[in-house]
Amino acid sequence: MKKPLIGISSCLLGNNVRYDGTHKKYNWVVDELSLYADFHPICPEMEMGLGVPRETVRLEKKEKDGPVQMVSNKNKTNLTQLAKDTANVLYESLPSHLDGFILKKDSPSCGPERVKIYYKDMPFEKGAGIFADHLLKKSLDYPIIHEGRLHNPELREDFIIRVWGHFNVHKLKAKISDIQNFHKKYKFVLLSFDEPSFRELGRISANNKNREPEEVLQLYQKTFMQALFQTRTRKKQANALQHIYGFLKNELKEKEKKNILKLIDRYKENNLPFVALATMMQHLIDISSNDYIKDQYYFFPYPEELELFLDL
Ligand code: SF4
Repeated sequence: MKKPLIGISSCLLGNNVRYDGTHKKYNWVVDELSLYADFHPICPEMEMGLGVPRETVRLEKKEKDGPVQMVSNKNKTNLTQLAKDTANVLYESLPSHLDGFILKKDSPSCGPERVKIYYKDMPFEKGAGIFADHLLKKSLDYPIIHEGRLHNPELREDFIIRVWGHFNVHKLKAKISDIQNFHKKYKFVLLSFDEPSFRELGRISANNKNREPEEVLQLYQKTFMQALFQTRTRKKQANALQHIYGFLKNELKEKEKKNILKLIDRYKENNLPFVALATMMQHLIDISSNDYIKDQYYFFPYPEELELFLDL
C-alpha cells in the first residue's frame, strides 16, 4: 500500500554524510516511522560536491546588515553561490508528492531556524541554513520540522497528523461524494485544530455554489491544510471531545456521563493527561453501536501503531 513520502536530511537516516563521515541517526524515525512512511533523503553539502570528510562550514556576515554567506571554517572559501545553486537544483528535483520534511537542526545547510550566524568570529544572530531557507520560502502546503522539535510529544503528533492529513487529502479524487465522506471522517480532527475552518470546509464540500468537482477538490485541499496548520489547544481538544461525548451519551448511565464531563473539564484545565481521557473515550467508542462515531479519524488520523498519544 502507498505510504506518505517525507523529505529528510540524509544524516538523520543514519547515512554517513556528515563532514567527519559520521551520521546523526534519529532512532524513532529509522526504527518506527519508517515502518509507515517512505523517505526521500537529501544532503545539500554532499550535493555541493564537498565530499566526506570535508571542512566544516558556517554562516557568517561580513557587514552587520550585509547578506548571510556560507564560508568554510579552515580555508575561508566562500561557498554561498554554490550552496544557493545546489539548493535550487535539489529543490527542483524533489518528488512532487512529498507530504512533509524533517530537517537537521542547527546545520548551516539544513537547519530551518536558530542556526548561528557569525560576525567577526562571534555568534551574532540566528537564521536558517541555505537549503532550509530556500525550502521555507516556497510556501509549501506540507509540514516542515527539525528533529529537535520531534522530541516534544505534542509537536511530534501535530507534525504526523499534518503529514497524514496531506497524504490523505491528496489521495482524494475529484468526486463530491468522496470529498463529503472524507470531511465527515475528519470532523473531530478539524474541530480540534480550528472550528471555523471545519465549518468553511463543510460549505466547500457541500458545493452549494455548483463548482466543478476539480475546483472543489483543490479548494478543499488548500483549506484543509490551512486548517491543520492552526494551533491545537486543550480548549479546542476539549470542544472536540465534548462533541464526541454528544454522540455517546445516549448509551451511557448517568454516573458515566457525569464522570466523562468531569474528566473533560479536568483535561481542559491541564489537570489530566490526554492519554487517560483518550483511553476511556476509545473504550466507549469501541462498545458503542454508533457507526458514525466509530468511523471517525479523531484518535488515530495516522497509523495507530505509532502510539503517539501515549506521551500526551
Ligand atoms: S545536516 Fe544536512 S548537509 Fe549536514 S550532513 Fe546532514 S544532510 Fe548533509
